[in-house]
Amino acid sequence: MDGAAEEIDLYEVLGISSSASKNEIKKAYHKAALSSHPDKVAEEDRQAAEIKFKSISRAYEILSDDQQRHLYDTHGMSAFSGANSGMPGEGVDLDDILQQMFGMGMGGMPGMPPGMGGAPGGRQVPRKGRNEEQEYEVTLEELYKGKTTRFASTKNVVCAVCKGSGGKERAKSHPCGVCGGRGMTTGLRSVGPGLVTQETTTCGTCKGSGKVFKDKDRCKKCKGAKVVEARKVLELYIPRGSREGDKIVLPGEADQLPDQEPGDIIFELSEVPHDVFRRAGADLQADLHITLAEALTGFDRVVLTHLDGRGIQLKVKQPKGKILRPDQVLKVAGEGMPHKKSDHKGDLYLVVKIDFPEDGWVQDEAMLNKIREVLPGPEPAIKADVVDEVEYDDTATLDDFGAGSGDPRAGAEWEDEDEEGAQPQCATQ
Ligand SMILES: [Zn+2]
Ligand SMILES: [Zn+2]
Repeated sequence: MDGAAEEIDLYEVLGISSSASKNEIKKAYHKAALSSHPDKVAEEDRQAAEIKFKSISRAYEILSDDQQRHLYDTHGMSAFSGANSGMPGEGVDLDDILQQMFGMGMGGMPGMPPGMGGAPGGRQVPRKGRNEEQEYEVTLEELYKGKTTRFASTKNVVCAVCKGSGGKERAKSHPCGVCGGRGMTTGLRSVGPGLVTQETTTCGTCKGSGKVFKDKDRCKKCKGAKVVEARKVLELYIPRGSREGDKIVLPGEADQLPDQEPGDIIFELSEVPHDVFRRAGADLQADLHITLAEALTGFDRVVLTHLDGRGIQLKVKQPKGKILRPDQVLKVAGEGMPHKKSDHKGDLYLVVKIDFPEDGWVQDEAMLNKIREVLPGPEPAIKADVVDEVEYDDTATLDDFGAGSGDPRAGAEWEDEDEEGAQPQCATQ
């Protein structure tokens, strides 16, 4: 034992006894990994959670592997740490504190007979399997309230019969022909239009072990595949206030391969556009539809249904002729989206939209006169020597303004005018 820093009790990290079964170790790992996942704690605790999460992962890595667990039980962490364990070809990630401490490599332990602490022959399989990323659509209501959902997923798990060897007991394997026993294959992968990257992936034939069995020697259960399909119910927890692009990680739930920590399933949230609300950060925006009479006189009523089903009531008093105008903005503090891990909420911005009465709403001249009496009249009359009374078309739009003239001040591009187009120009010449 070199120093106090290495004296970590891996069983303690997972909260289990040193006689725990493989199954107990796995259960404890899943429980600990879920509860200390950095995405699930408050901002200020995140760094500590990250370190804890990594130590949990490393503890599981060692204790779930019979050989590594035996090494740990007999030699403690000194079997994995110290200057004499420098792993050739193993890059050290400085962020990964425990990796520095444990220094585990897949290339085999120096001074150990082949087969101890890894596979012989310079096999280079990533310590951790590939993560599975997928998009998950959520409504604004779900993001407002938070959501826990359960779903069944099918994944590959290491075959329990052959413990991932793929062979019958005492059967002899031979090197995989596809990867030449390396466990990895190299290929090209498209990463964008006209862009490819060279990628090294785990060999699909030997599942990274570098070894395969003859037909007659294959495990009956997995038929030599080393893994079998299993169904599992997964739980996805989406904290309230989550945003588009947020990632929810289910640690270790991706496909398993022998001798490898499984990757994570990562869900990336995708927010479905809402009919009523628009969102930016924790703020919400919605149109506030009111009548012309309400704009002029005020109102007291429920104006919209919030994301949690509550009616939002607005009482607008219009003292001394104060009125609401089109596109005026009313800000309601604290009625936006929840902030994550907090009781605070953003604000709600209501944009006034005035619904004018339908045509024909006035029944008679007397009613019109009443309105004229109540509402302010026009400015003093314009004086002119000559006055022409003109006709008008009340269905016009400004799209026709200057149309076809080529003048950049025109209301719309001349291409939009299907009926007229460029023809009038020719006709007038
Ligand atoms: Zn098997
Ligand atoms: Zn192979």
